[in-house]
Amino acid sequence: MNILVVGSGGREHALCWKLARSPLLSKLWCAPGNPGIAAVAECVEVGATDIEALVAFARDHAVDLVVAGPEAPLTLGLADRCAAAGIPCFGPSAEAARLEGSKSFFKEIALAAGAPTARHAEFTDAAAAREYIRREGTPIVVKADGLAAGKGVVVATSVAEAEEAIADFMERRIHGDSGARVVVEEFLDGEEVSFFALCDGTRAVPLQGAQDHKRAGDGDTGPNTGGMGAYSPAPAFTPEMQGAVMESCIAPVLAEMARRGSHFRGVLFAGLMLTAQGPKLLEFNVRFGDPECQALMLRLESDLLPALLAAARGDLSGVALEWSPEPSLLVVLAAENYPGTPRTGTVIGGLAEAAAVPGVSVFHAGTKAGPDGAVLAAGGRVLGIGARAATLREARDAAYRAVDAINWPEGFCRRDIGWRALGR
Ligand code: ATP
Repeated sequence: MNILVVGSGGREHALCWKLARSPLLSKLWCAPGNPGIAAVAECVEVGATDIEALVAFARDHAVDLVVAGPEAPLTLGLADRCAAAGIPCFGPSAEAARLEGSKSFFKEIALAAGAPTARHAEFTDAAAAREYIRREGTPIVVKADGLAAGKGVVVATSVAEAEEAIADFMERRIHGDSGARVVVEEFLDGEEVSFFALCDGTRAVPLQGAQDHKRAGDGDTGPNTGGMGAYSPAPAFTPEMQGAVMESCIAPVLAEMARRGSHFRGVLFAGLMLTAQGPKLLEFNVRFGDPECQALMLRLESDLLPALLAAARGDLSGVALEWSPEPSLLVVLAAENYPGTPRTGTVIGGLAEAAAVPGVSVFHAGTKAGPDGAVLAAGGRVLGIGARAATLREARDAAYRAVDAINWPEGFCRRDIGWRALGR
């Protein structure tokens, strides 16, 4: 079977790494990929958002399945264009991808499906939003409706802070049209968990839970990032909670999407808050989380390829996945100054030494090939160092042993990945 994976991050490296082990695989391409991915797939010089070129490549190379890593190509209609060309694509249509792209649409679907989520109101008028905030009091959460690169959410502890967010989003339009509409919602208290389910339009197969670390610094300090590390499973998210979320969130949302003729195929990523009243939906994403995907792939025992193909073809009925009971943990190495403008072009050494640590896998994200086989930093998040072991503590120790084998003075990582689970 011929597979084309779209993307170039740690998530896509982990997907390629897993797909490359499938006995069903004939040929694996990744567009555009990275030097780490090049060890398990043939990298193709086509950008992840060049939809026409991706579809043309898939057609010309008899690709049996296109796997979308990030959300951008999905939002741009990759799955729709693949469908028109008769090529199965793992990932939702542009219409179904609105579950991630519009917070207002997400709320509409969650409410229609009866899925538990924070109480909210929506505004296109700043004065009305301010009045609502004053009435509700704090803490309160203000969200720009559209995508804002993770910067469109303000958890406000004072009315002044919430009103400032209204001014930023709706009046100053710091995120452009994404702030024309805002969602103002109830603050939910608890631990955050990422949970994933494979969907074929009507059925869902649960994957696993994971926890990410969004802040750049130890102790959850510093600016927000794309994610500095993850582990799976998340002990706070019990199997009972997972069952409840499948029943109260995933299944009814799939049914609601199908009722609207907008069948969701791909991976549904539920951002959950584990509140005292049980798990509640914070958001949906329409693709795997990164770094969570890397932690998940390290634990997946089953063949990933037939599962993704079944979801893309719309029939997951025969699919059941086996997971290792062993936990996995992943540490992200980022370039100096990330999440600001990262310092790039620096040389990364010790990759082979890191990969030689027992139980460890090294995933590339923002890397590029330099002269004489050198690997250079080329982005913010640069490497994912993952390990699986009998206990989370052992996985953590192995991952940090590998991190310490990397010779890259211009990189940094958090030293406390896993603290929540290890502290329980
Ligand atoms: P990102 O892209 O960074 O994941 P986003 O822009 O898609 O974020 P959300 O995931 O909805 O937006 O919110 C970002 C973060 O804000 C959440 O991960 C959570 O920590 C916090 N948050 C969002 N909604 C609430 C809420 N109702 N109560 C408490 N915290 C919240």
